[in-house]
Amino acid sequence: MSYFVNEKGYYGDFGGAYIPEMLYPNVEELRQNYLKIIADENFQEEFHHLLKDYVGRPSPLYLAGRLSDRYKANIFLKREDLNHTGAHKVNNTIGQILLAERLGKKRIIAETGAGQHGVATATVCALRGLECVVYMGEVDIKRQAPNVARMKMLGAKVVAATSGSKTLKDATNEAMRDWINNPVDTHYIIGSVVGPHPYPDMVARFQSVISEEAKKQLAEQTGNGSPDYVLACVGGGSNAMGMFYHFIDDEQVKLIAVEAAGKGVDSGFSAATTYLGKEGVLHGSRSILMQTHDGQVVEPHSVSAGLDYPGIGPQHAHLFKTGRGRYVSVTDDEALQAGLLLTQMEGIIPAIESAHALAYLEKMNFTGGENVVVCLSGRGDKDMDTYMKYFGL
Ligand SMILES: *Cc1c(COP(=O)(O)O)cnc(C)c1O
Repeated sequence: MSYFVNEKGYYGDFGGAYIPEMLYPNVEELRQNYLKIIADENFQEEFHHLLKDYVGRPSPLYLAGRLSDRYKANIFLKREDLNHTGAHKVNNTIGQILLAERLGKKRIIAETGAGQHGVATATVCALRGLECVVYMGEVDIKRQAPNVARMKMLGAKVVAATSGSKTLKDATNEAMRDWINNPVDTHYIIGSVVGPHPYPDMVARFQSVISEEAKKQLAEQTGNGSPDYVLACVGGGSNAMGMFYHFIDDEQVKLIAVEAAGKGVDSGFSAATTYLGKEGVLHGSRSILMQTHDGQVVEPHSVSAGLDYPGIGPQHAHLFKTGRGRYVSVTDDEALQAGLLLTQMEGIIPAIESAHALAYLEKMNFTGGENVVVCLSGRGDKDMDTYMKYFGL
């Protein structure tokens, strides 16, 4: 069995490209070219040069000593929080902007919810001097003022989506409409392992640098490149897929994906997709998503904006259904407490998204000495308001 995409763009029952006819030429151009471009030597050289000197890779693999004592296992943190712009998202936007250039594109569009992907996109557009338009729900623009200011300072145009619930889903619709109207000169940078084929595979390849490095670093530090467990949080699933990628075919490595339970999986305020979801089509691919019995997408909830998404990427749906990955969830409260714990035990303030992966360590009963790698997907600067309110700081 393969856990990777097939010729037709599917992972088992999931994936594909469910798109309006009008988008077909754009997606087809990408599908026909992405593998060739990524494999090109000159592309690889430029990609790795920017990852090294601009992003600051390789990100360290840090053996967290006090956390290891607490859990009676060797807890290694893959430090994506130390990347330029503070999270893993930039790995993907660097890859996609280099690809867009090679396709002759002059203009970049993106959608963003919390603004993190918008900032990562605006950053690489400034770096390469490309025009950048970011679609964002009107409600999110009000909620995420600092990220909107960052995007504007980076030279991006932020366009408000004013239809529907005025959030991520509506911003995505606006971005699709833009792409249909500008098929020749525009590339659409999607921010996670979601969307029509080839996006999930393309984004996973760009993020796979996380596990490529981790495997090598673990071998250097322990003499064995295969950990017992890898853990990562899942919104759409790009940091998790990056963390899993080079371990997927090594069945000794247990893959644990941590979703946001919000106020509890049965509370009505949750984003625990595999627990609550059913198979269906969302944002251009067949996957698992939270929906009502008549197929309406259910509004998700999580304290962390990056995990507040009603679906997961199709490769995750496949890993879940085949049992290769274990999909679990932790609540808002558990994640916030884990964020405080890491801060006070290791002096690292994590993004609340990443704190979800850390929180699951509390529920694992290690027998002693296991090697465990946790993807620390981002830093907590952006979350200080939430931490301050919750802990009364
Ligand atoms: C956006 C984000 C996530 C969630 O996105 P994935 O595609 O699931 O990785 C997780 N952590 C951080 C820090 C983020 O910014």
